[in-house]
Amino acid sequence: MIVLKFGGTSVGKPERMKKIADLVLNTPGKKIVVLSALSGTTNSLVAIGDHLIAGQHAKAEEEIARLEKHYQAFIKELYTGDSFQAIGQELVSRFFIFIRLLAAGQFDGKSYRELLAQGELISTELFYQHLQERKISARLLPALYFMSIDENDEPELEKIAERLKPLLSSLNNIDIIITQGYICRNNRNEIDNLKRGGSDYTASLVGAAIRAEEIQIWTDIDGMHNNDPRIVKKTIPISELTFDEASELAYFGAKILHPSTIVPAQKYNVPVRLKNTMDEKAPGTIITSKGKEGSFKAIAAKDGITAIKIRSSRMLMAYGFLRRVFEIFENHKTSIDMITTSEVAVSLTIDNNTQLASIETELKKFGTIEVDNDQTIICIVGQKITEQKGVLKQVFDSLSEIPVRMVSCGGSTNNVSLLIDKKHKEKALNALNEGLFGLR
Ligand code: ADP
Ligand code: ASP
Ligand code: MG
Repeated sequence: MIVLKFGGTSVGKPERMKKIADLVLNTPGKKIVVLSALSGTTNSLVAIGDHLIAGQHAKAEEEIARLEKHYQAFIKELYTGDSFQAIGQELVSRFFIFIRLLAAGQFDGKSYRELLAQGELISTELFYQHLQERKISARLLPALYFMSIDENDEPELEKIAERLKPLLSSLNNIDIIITQGYICRNNRNEIDNLKRGGSDYTASLVGAAIRAEEIQIWTDIDGMHNNDPRIVKKTIPISELTFDEASELAYFGAKILHPSTIVPAQKYNVPVRLKNTMDEKAPGTIITSKGKEGSFKAIAAKDGITAIKIRSSRMLMAYGFLRRVFEIFENHKTSIDMITTSEVAVSLTIDNNTQLASIETELKKFGTIEVDNDQTIICIVGQKITEQKGVLKQVFDSLSEIPVRMVSCGGSTNNVSLLIDKKHKEKALNALNEGLFGLR
């Protein structure tokens, strides 16, 4: 069995949705199809939710009406016959009645998350009805029946696998099983989600749970590129990556994959293939345990980083110091991305500022604290790059014009990370593209 995931742009226009139906049909064997919301929908639902939280009902209604129109136009082009036009109309009106009900009620975090789930719920129903109209045998399997996260928002892979077993065996004779990406239930049994871009994560969790032959992530670009194509003009696709390399790139900002996508697939050694819906023939990227050896493979950048420097005279020679520092972060459920140490100071970075004030207060017990916001981590990836001669020279020669705040090398053999001020990001990515890949 394989898992095919289609992102927002792949289902964002009626003709694209029809095209992915062809693609699914032409893929041999049994498959689970994971769909995102139509492109723009989740952003729009976020806007509606934000207006409602702020008590701005008129603005929320304006956005709801705009979104509803978009869906009405969508179904007009998606379905051909009158009876499916009617089914589509009924479907859209049912969803928007529900959205307006949510908006009219007491709008809290729970209703907000329920609102966010509507995008994937509607896209999968639209697609299912499209297959019905074409008389293609398929079944909808609601993700809310099996996808769950625990009290720390971590997906419960074993439970997901257990729940999927009987559900899938009841669909034994069905070749196309459609489910929603992104959405899940939390430990209070409420509707929740796997964070923005989470449909990739759904595909990988499902693929790992069923020990799929392959997980295919279909998107709007021909695989993982060597650099961020939104920022750097000349980038090239990479044909092969290891799980470790892809994981680092996803975690450190390569938007093509949700940061945690690779983790479940790697756990059960399920290959992940990245493919382009707009160019099916393009080879894309295959991610397995055995990637191609070589020098630099790719660069990614993660924004929204805060650097914290703890300067302490008591650090020198004091065993247990770092443990006590780490404990503060652990107690605040804040993970650390990068860390560098000297005899008198330790610098580290976090990507979640929600607990910063209270972390700072506790850290002050150790010495003086300096905090820098708006930093960016640049992550350079390649198999065994840290074991090769001249790698750091090449990196720093490329960045001779840019101040580098922190460097991390040797944590793993496949990655060098740098911390810079976000204002230098574009220049840094372009300089590295030229210096490491000879591309400009
Ligand atoms: P989907 O809606 O299919 O999930 P996303 O927008 O989430 O698609 O991800 C695809 C986008 O990721 C690409 O259009 C591209 O702009 C962006 N991206 C950022 N970094 C990379 C990279 N290194 N390689 C490929 N795409 C990247
Ligand atoms: N629709 C969700 C989002 O836009 C999930 C996804 O597309 O992967 O974040
Ligand atoms: Mg995405």
